[in-house]
Amino acid sequence: MQTTAAPTQEAKPQITHPSQLPAVDKLLLSEAMQALRHSHGGEACTLAVREVLSDLRRRVLAGETLHCDSADMVAMASQRIATRFAPRLRPVFNLTGTVLHTNLGRALLPQSAIDAVVQAMSAPANLEYDLEDGSRGDRDDLVESLICELTGAEAATIVNNNAAAVLLVLSTLAMGKEVVVSRGELVEIGGAFRIPDVMTRAGAKLVEVGTTNRTHEKDYLGAIDENTAALMKVHCSNYAITGFTKAVSDADVAGIAHEKGLPMIVDLGSGTLIDMRDWGLPYEVTVRETVEAGADIVTFSGDKLLGGPQAGIIVGKKELIAQIKKNPLKRALRVGKITMAALEPTLRLYLNPETLAQELTTLRLFTRKATDMQAQAEQLQPLLQSALGQHYVVETAAMNSQIGSGALPVENLPSFGLRIYPASSKQAGRQLTQLEERFRTLPRPVIGRLHDDALWLDLRCLEADMQAQFAQQLGKLA
Ligand SMILES: *Cc1c(COP(=O)(O)O)cnc(C)c1O
Repeated sequence: MQTTAAPTQEAKPQITHPSQLPAVDKLLLSEAMQALRHSHGGEACTLAVREVLSDLRRRVLAGETLHCDSADMVAMASQRIATRFAPRLRPVFNLTGTVLHTNLGRALLPQSAIDAVVQAMSAPANLEYDLEDGSRGDRDDLVESLICELTGAEAATIVNNNAAAVLLVLSTLAMGKEVVVSRGELVEIGGAFRIPDVMTRAGAKLVEVGTTNRTHEKDYLGAIDENTAALMKVHCSNYAITGFTKAVSDADVAGIAHEKGLPMIVDLGSGTLIDMRDWGLPYEVTVRETVEAGADIVTFSGDKLLGGPQAGIIVGKKELIAQIKKNPLKRALRVGKITMAALEPTLRLYLNPETLAQELTTLRLFTRKATDMQAQAEQLQPLLQSALGQHYVVETAAMNSQIGSGALPVENLPSFGLRIYPASSKQAGRQLTQLEERFRTLPRPVIGRLHDDALWLDLRCLEADMQAQFAQQLGKLA
């Protein structure tokens, strides 16, 4: 849209006064505008043309000499329309190496969940309708028995996300009272979810016990008095305290709570339903183990290790869940039908562990073999090298993926991908930033990771069926 200093500017009419600009109607009636009116409507075209003309008028009045004709102005308007109608939420390639990337939308849903979501969006469904006796139902009923079967819990309820789950649980069980938490577990999750702050908003008072690295049973016992509503454990999901440490096990905290007639709450964060070691992955405590250890309430996310939609799942003792469901906040935090539609088939996949790693997209990504990614890297390396030219070096490289979203923060999954860096050390920093930007501004943006003076593209999340689309747009990097 350069209107000055273009090589053809001699041929273009010179505009030095606003009166030389065409009328809005003249541009609107031009041939090129007709197609745009057809696709985007007269209103959007009029608005765009007005904006272009008023922008040009401003520039002329500021003393600028324009070199452009009506066709250029229509092109400018067309560009404005394209920008205005372009979606803001766009698919990207997540080559960061972090599978559950919160900023990139966390879990990818399994196909059965995607199909169910499309159904739920396009047809009425029995969201809160009991098809057996025609009476009003409860949306939690759609998944409660499935969740109980998979976790061993007595009852379950679903809210918008795990942060909402923690808020609702504390507001129900501890409003106006105290909750005892180990100092080593006062976590902040990205996006400013801090247990102390959530506690305040829920109307509960936090009582910290122990020290950052060591908490003992006697610390919990010493903190309990007549104002105590519950003992709480928070899973250290995005950090690890190592070295000289001591934490009290879930079972021991539950034992202390029950001895004093109090409930024990666990915010599990990610909350897996399976023993991940069975799939060759690092161990993460399961929801079932936490329930079996004696936790009365356990909360976890739907879109972390579980691999489903954004949701907060609360499981636990029947009478506590009943109390939680009666809290007026539940109505404010409940999930919509789209979430329910996605959650149910995702959970159902867990009924067949034999097909889980194939069907559950996140687990399929976690369990991809490094040799798969290596083969892809070897195919893509020459394509990328020729697209980027001699100023960059493209190498295949072993790297480590992460599960992400706080799950297993210190465990890595061996992976493979491409490492790209400037060929010359001159202005290497700027070249690297530019490189990252070139990938980010592709039609389907490619998000990698800058590390050690190179751009790393981890191919774990580029499954075979996406590779052609990835390769196709590489020409645009040049
Ligand atoms: C991720 C996480 C949360 C927040 O869960 P969302 O589903 O993102 O709201 C809360 N607590 C812990 C321990 C977490 O790991």
